[in-house]
Amino acid sequence: MASVYDRNNIFARILRGEIPCAKVYEDEYVLAFRDIQPQAPVHVLVIPKGEYVSLDDFTATAPDAAQAAFLKAVGKIARDLGLAETGYRILANHGVDAHQEVAHFHVHIFGGKFLGRMLPKS
Ligand code: AMP
Repeated sequence: MASVYDRNNIFARILRGEIPCAKVYEDEYVLAFRDIQPQAPVHVLVIPKGEYVSLDDFTATAPDAAQAAFLKAVGKIARDLGLAETGYRILANHGVDAHQEVAHFHVHIFGGKFLGRMLPKS
């Protein structure tokens, strides 16, 4: 995974309004929208508005206020989606071994069904 932020990545383009998204939440720090290829009945992506390649970059370099606001927003979004009662999973891929596809930090929120075990058995 490149450590230099690419301003032409797809999520950067969504943030600039160049590409549409199915928005579910926005505030000063984050944007959340539905994944274009949902892997659960609810599959939402939460991204920071700042330029961070991955969770590694975000947690190492983002201001504390942005990090706190991001995690608070993930919890609020899950609650607002009605997932707090039944349960949900959050996931963030960093780098090659995790198969990160989009090099703008994002957290997936999955829910709306029983999600089974955390990782498939290999
Ligand atoms: P990751 O493998 O963690 O980098 O996941 C990237 C996610 O972004 C995948 O689940 C894709 O389906 C999703 N995705 C890619 N392009 C878009 C888009 N234009 N709008 C919404 N989700 C997208």
